[in-house]
Amino acid sequence: MRCMDALNLIDANVDGQLSEAMRQRHDAHIAACARCEAALADARRVAEATRKALDIATPADDFARRVVASLSSRPAGGLRWRVRRPSLGGLFSARMR
Ligand SMILES: [Zn+2]
Repeated sequence: MRCMDALNLIDANVDGQLSEAMRQRHDAHIAACARCEAALADARRVAEATRKALDIATPADDFARRVVASLSSRPAGGLRWRVRRPSLGGLFSARMR
């Protein structure tokens, strides 16, 4: 296996998507090639950091139920959004400082 092929398969290896035979060929190349070994280590670090970030962002089990409950208690007509623009006087006074 050439480095270009090994590098193209790194994400698939990290994600466990290679066949057993292909994973063994990939691992054999990685074991013999410092450049690809470093690239695989980087990909594993990124995958781990991504997994941790997604864990943090996972909402509570009852999040969807609470959102639906809060929407159903709102008056008919839906939500109204207000965009507040700063007044011109506020802009000028901020720039004068
Ligand atoms: Zn290589």
